[in-house]
Amino acid sequence: MSKYSMSTTLIHGTSHEKKPYNALQMPIFQTSTYEFNSTKNGAEIFAGQAPGYAYLRIGSPTVSMVEEKLAALENTEGAVAFGSGMGAITATLTTFLKAGDRCVVDKAIYGCTFELFAHKLTAFGIAVEFIDFTDMKAVRKALRKKTTLVYFETISNPTMKVVDIEKVSAYAHDKYPDCLVVVDNTFATGLSCKPHDLGADIVVHSATKYLNGHGDLLAGFACANADLAMQIRVVGLKDVTGAVPGPQEAFLLNRGLKTLPLRMEKHSANAMKVAKFLEANENIESVYYVGLKSHPQYKIAKKELALTGGMIAFEPKTAEIAENILNNVELCTLAVSLGDCETLIEHPGSMTHSTYTEEEMINAGFTKKLIRLSVGLECADDIIADLAQAIEKATK
Ligand SMILES: *Cc1c(COP(=O)(O)O)cnc(C)c1O
Repeated sequence: MSKYSMSTTLIHGTSHEKKPYNALQMPIFQTSTYEFNSTKNGAEIFAGQAPGYAYLRIGSPTVSMVEEKLAALENTEGAVAFGSGMGAITATLTTFLKAGDRCVVDKAIYGCTFELFAHKLTAFGIAVEFIDFTDMKAVRKALRKKTTLVYFETISNPTMKVVDIEKVSAYAHDKYPDCLVVVDNTFATGLSCKPHDLGADIVVHSATKYLNGHGDLLAGFACANADLAMQIRVVGLKDVTGAVPGPQEAFLLNRGLKTLPLRMEKHSANAMKVAKFLEANENIESVYYVGLKSHPQYKIAKKELALTGGMIAFEPKTAEIAENILNNVELCTLAVSLGDCETLIEHPGSMTHSTYTEEEMINAGFTKKLIRLSVGLECADDIIADLAQAIEKATK
């Protein structure tokens, strides 16, 4: 635990050790392996009984530094860094699941995670049931059958619905004390919401998004208590996926983390202005933003999220108009991913969530009319003016 506040900790870390050569920044340790002083020393490092590093897949100083910051940010004892969000998710799931297990998973989640649960884990003999975790009746019904793991997102990609993490975690643990509650906290980040404090066992992240914030790398994390984090590191990371981040990625990610509080404040303020503009626009049928009173889980969002963040989803009247809006933006960039300085706009139905069939999309609560917007750090008036002109052209 750091005695400093989160914004200080994200700059300095928690260990406060001097860096090699007293450098201000932790250098990039571009090395795949480390020399042992003796066989005894090598054996001890491998057994975790002596300090030091052995091999880049198991750990390195540049990577350890960002892991320390993530554990502080999510208030967990451990954090394991990965080469991507999907690496973190796959490693976490394969660490704990085996044939015959059963998972209950939210219907509206990131497209590749959906694909992993719907078609890959099932192929390994793991049963998966998709439900809506904002519906406690559905949660209670699904958990009548013995459940090994439940999985959902703090703010769902792409529908922006908000799950009551405290309620769902308490219910799952009450029914099955060993059931693992895994939450993808990518959209909220630990600055806005700490799922582990609310009862979740494991918090996973795509650090490619807000945590790095500059659209120049892929990374991921799994954060949990010391025991679960160690299992994820030695099984899911070391033996199964090998999905480690490189030292360069860790260095850049460390730089990004320093400004996370500043960026999240601005993303939130900008997105609130943009969401209000969209809500007032007569050509837009619906707007989904956790900061709007019209959001279906506004009360839960108020309780659970300290910041409203930069993610908005909205729908014009038809899928054709949606396509026209996407093709007429000038400042907003037509691109997937999110959480960057630049405002990014995309079409979940044919891009991030194209792993869903049309029927599965409707079942999950979205259609091809839906546009997903990651509001960036530009001047909000410029973003609004661009959306206004694109909507006008698209509806003419
Ligand atoms: C992008 C994303 C992922 C996957 O992360 P990568 O870093 O692209 O592998 C997982 N979950 C959510 C919510 C995402 O937005």
